[in-house]
Amino acid sequence: MKLLVVATALGPLGSGRGGGVDLTLAGVVAGLLQRGHQLTVLAAEGSVLAADCAAAELWCCSGEPQPSVQHQGHEALITMPADGLLARFWRRVLAEAPAAGFDAVLNLGYDWLPFWLTPTAALPIFHLVSMGSVTAAMDAVIADVAAWDQRRLAFHTASQAADFALPKPPLLVGNGFDLDAYRFSAQAEPLLGWVGRVAPEKGLEDAAAAAARCGLPLAVWGLVEDPVYAAAVEASVPAGTLQWRGFLPTAQLQAELGRCRALLNTPKWNEAYGNVVVEALACGVPVLAYRRGGPAELVQPGLTGWLVDPDDMAALAEAVGRVSLIDRAACRRWVEQNATREVLAQRIEAWLLQGLQP
Ligand code: UDP
Repeated sequence: MKLLVVATALGPLGSGRGGGVDLTLAGVVAGLLQRGHQLTVLAAEGSVLAADCAAAELWCCSGEPQPSVQHQGHEALITMPADGLLARFWRRVLAEAPAAGFDAVLNLGYDWLPFWLTPTAALPIFHLVSMGSVTAAMDAVIADVAAWDQRRLAFHTASQAADFALPKPPLLVGNGFDLDAYRFSAQAEPLLGWVGRVAPEKGLEDAAAAAARCGLPLAVWGLVEDPVYAAAVEASVPAGTLQWRGFLPTAQLQAELGRCRALLNTPKWNEAYGNVVVEALACGVPVLAYRRGGPAELVQPGLTGWLVDPDDMAALAEAVGRVSLIDRAACRRWVEQNATREVLAQRIEAWLLQGLQP
């Protein structure tokens, strides 16, 4: 197939602004290239494609980034900067994609506009939905596409898909990771880890509190999206508990993350998947997570980590004491068997082929 993959309009690939979607894009594009498909990526100016996606063509657009829908209330209206990046992306798709001979467009952005365009567009547009319910307007437009032709939609996990009104059981594709990019680390240091955008829905304060209870430092990797929130978390625990490591490219992130005794994953929202859970497991790092959203489907209690009741920091701290029962090699093995790029690319290919049938 000749496919056009549309990135998020939040910012350039590689900047961290797109959150987990950037890694999803790299997995989808590299995996589909490997299966012999022809790929073009449409992304914000300044984007950098990962080395194994280099065979894809890159189309770039400039323009004001789309404000993240994540931090808007449930009743928030749809907002788009006039002539912003999102509008330019989709004008280009509508104007250039049909003549360029694409078989399909795969949208990875969680934005109202491409969903709304889908039933009337000349080219088939597919959506890999990257979040659960955030606003009523997004819920409605996703439900509209589902009612029109649900074959155009795929989700990462069952917990995520359950947020939406779907006439049929959802198509779940999980996510896919390049195992070669993560080195297995058999040994751990007395250090806990936390990875994610530093923003309230990610619940860093709970991981910090659990680390403080255990008397272990917590290394934090990720883009500080909300500095006021970051300062409040820092102030909530004894000095020295948090080690701020910044946003690192995957190669450096995995090298540092692999030294952790465990990853704490404490989302406050219905996390659609939880890339960082699988990235930690790929390094051999067990995961202690709340039984909520995607991470609850990824962590296999007793095999790759432990799940505790959501928002129960005492239980989380207690689970740190049981990390020694987890075999780090089993964590890596679970990723090899369940979340490789090859597995993801096969699922995406089957989804698109099925959806392209009349
Ligand atoms: N990440 C990274 N470097 C860092 C911290 C995070 O590349 O220092 C990436 C991480 O690999 C993951 C993404 O940021 O792919 C966060 O994705 P996740 O699905 O956990 O959450 P999201 O931000 O999409 O809500």
